[in-house]
Amino acid sequence: MQPVFRFAPSPNGHLHLGHAFSALLNARMAAEKGGRFLIRIEDIDTSRCTDSLVADCLDDLAWLGLAWEEPVLRQSTQFARYGAAADSLASHGLVFRCTCTRGDIQKAAGEDAPRDPDGAILYPGTCRDHGAGEGPFALRLDCRAGIATLSGPLHWRETGEGAEQVIPADPSIWGDAVLIRKDVPASYHLAVALDDAMQGVTHVVRGRDLYAATAIHRLLQSLLGLPAPVYHHHALILDEEGKKLSKSAVSTPLRQLRAQGVTAGDIRRRLGFG
Ligand code: GLU
Repeated sequence: MQPVFRFAPSPNGHLHLGHAFSALLNARMAAEKGGRFLIRIEDIDTSRCTDSLVADCLDDLAWLGLAWEEPVLRQSTQFARYGAAADSLASHGLVFRCTCTRGDIQKAAGEDAPRDPDGAILYPGTCRDHGAGEGPFALRLDCRAGIATLSGPLHWRETGEGAEQVIPADPSIWGDAVLIRKDVPASYHLAVALDDAMQGVTHVVRGRDLYAATAIHRLLQSLLGLPAPVYHHHALILDEEGKKLSKSAVSTPLRQLRAQGVTAGDIRRRLGFG
């Protein structure tokens, strides 16, 4: 089977050096393995991901010298699929409606409530246990019920530290994750699990910041009968001396560097792809 890699930016702002590193690493690993390289635009946040940011993002990637397969999948065109998947989980009793606001959750969970890896309060189970109220609702995964359907422990294959490792996945760290948001008919976790499978992605190469998210992605893959890719979570980008780049250097938009006369070659060399 030909390997499939993807770089999946969320264009709710301009791409910076961190994105460039991730995209270049994906493309290099794809080339080394004779694989395909896709770009996926993760623009479910339709109020923030404007058409012009999407166009700028693709323009920046082309400027960097990257080439990818067309057509580029935009998640904002796929809401019906995400809804259908949530419905299918609901038909197995694994989903509940939740009308809680952030304030409701804070109040119900209390001051020292446990948090998920992103720092959000773990859902205290209000609507799961007592039913949803009136008004707009999100759909949440009943995490305990989902885990209870598994035939064994979850894990994933990780190559980010060198030799392949098998990492135990504990999706309960995310609690009853939102599958369909109140404001947008999708969520990052659901969309990424579905699209990696639909696009036949075999290798997920992405930043360390998404390492913990893999546990909930593995649970969703398992519940939805989707294959598990191999994961490669890369470390923060380093400069030529192997030192961490400063925060401002990492977050300067590529466009700004371009406007200052920095070339794509300069960036590739600086990131170790010279
Ligand atoms: N769209 C996500 C981000 O930009 C990355 C998704 C992924 O690689 O799984 O943070």
